[in-house]
Amino acid sequence: MEFKHVAISKKTDYRNFPMVPRVIFGSGSFDQLGDILMPERRHSDAPFIFLVDDIFEEKELASRIPAIFNDQIIFISADEEPKTTQVDVLVQKIHNDFNELPSGIVGIGGGTLLDLAKAVSILLTNKGSSSDYQGWDLVNKPSIYHAGIPTISGTGAEVSRTTVLLGPEKKLGINSDHTTFDQVVLDPDLTQGVSKEQWFYTGMDCYIHCIESLNGTYLNAFSQSYGEKALELCKEVYLKDLSPNESREKLMMASWHGGMSIAYSQVGVAHAMSYGLSYLLGVKHGIGNCLVFQHLEEFYPKGVALFNKMRQKHGIEMPTGICANLSDCDFETIISVSMAMEPLWENALGQNWREIITAEKLESIYRKI
Ligand code: NAD
Ligand code: ZN
Repeated sequence: MEFKHVAISKKTDYRNFPMVPRVIFGSGSFDQLGDILMPERRHSDAPFIFLVDDIFEEKELASRIPAIFNDQIIFISADEEPKTTQVDVLVQKIHNDFNELPSGIVGIGGGTLLDLAKAVSILLTNKGSSSDYQGWDLVNKPSIYHAGIPTISGTGAEVSRTTVLLGPEKKLGINSDHTTFDQVVLDPDLTQGVSKEQWFYTGMDCYIHCIESLNGTYLNAFSQSYGEKALELCKEVYLKDLSPNESREKLMMASWHGGMSIAYSQVGVAHAMSYGLSYLLGVKHGIGNCLVFQHLEEFYPKGVALFNKMRQKHGIEMPTGICANLSDCDFETIISVSMAMEPLWENALGQNWREIITAEKLESIYRKI
């Protein structure tokens, strides 16, 4: 008897991720923004709303924003990380100010402004509060057009499919296919003027993304290819003596690759623990990661050694005593926020992570900070 060869199909369940469909890169590319936005203008009554870090208010960059017709420029402070209430107020303001939906939202700034732009563009078409959408794939309608223009490099927020918001109950991203930017403008000149400390802390976010992704159990060839490139670029930027131009360009691309690396993987211990710090004490993402990461030799020995080398080379003094005056109840809160980041722990330590990470273990690390 003869059998015919039949192909047996076995359905896989790999995630199908969106990527930023358009990106422009290069010194001075910001000045092409007007041309880039023109075809996206639905008509002259549908404005572009520019959400801009208020550090640029009355600065040269602000005068180069191509606002025409009834476009609006809204300056926003990045002193605090984005909150769901802040997103809701902005969305309400835009609905009140205009009879119809804007043509698009443009975020200009660091991770804070990029995340605000993403969230506002989603909430303009999805009803309710932004806190309703914190989580995975809860957004059902496409957002309006949104463009991101980073002015500091490291978070990878320019490529990611999330916008991290502090909500009433949790700090959690709106992770969705509609979150990713439609356009990104990478102009390394815009990162001039960042203080040395902030350059280090936000850049180290990228470095830590690489270490956590490359040492995680979720690692795969996709993440590895981006993570290795980003790590190589971070080493050049923070350990060699590049010209300022080259350094800005390379850190911008490191951020991009670092963000891509975690798309198909996860971050790890430093991020899980820094979320706790940020939730309870409002410690910002970049510095929070550094505060934790310096004490993680046990998990990332080589990564921490290199981190210390970079910190020393640039004379960065990290604050101390951050957790000195916390009550037992405070420790309970930050530990429970941190332990709730299950995918991060699982990526870092494998499925049996609970055997390694206990409340006592975390408290002993937090006490060093
Ligand atoms: P940021 O946006 O908070 O800005 C940090 C500081 O740098 C601010 O004081 C800001 O005014 C200043 N600054 C920015 N550009 C400047 C410039 N060109 N010159 C001078 N000063 C400048 O910093 P960040 O570290 O980029 O972003 C942190 C935020 O990003 C957090 O809210 C975090 O949750 C978020 N984040 C998001 C993702 C994501 O995938 N969506 C990933 C990582 C972090
Ligand atoms: Zn990060």
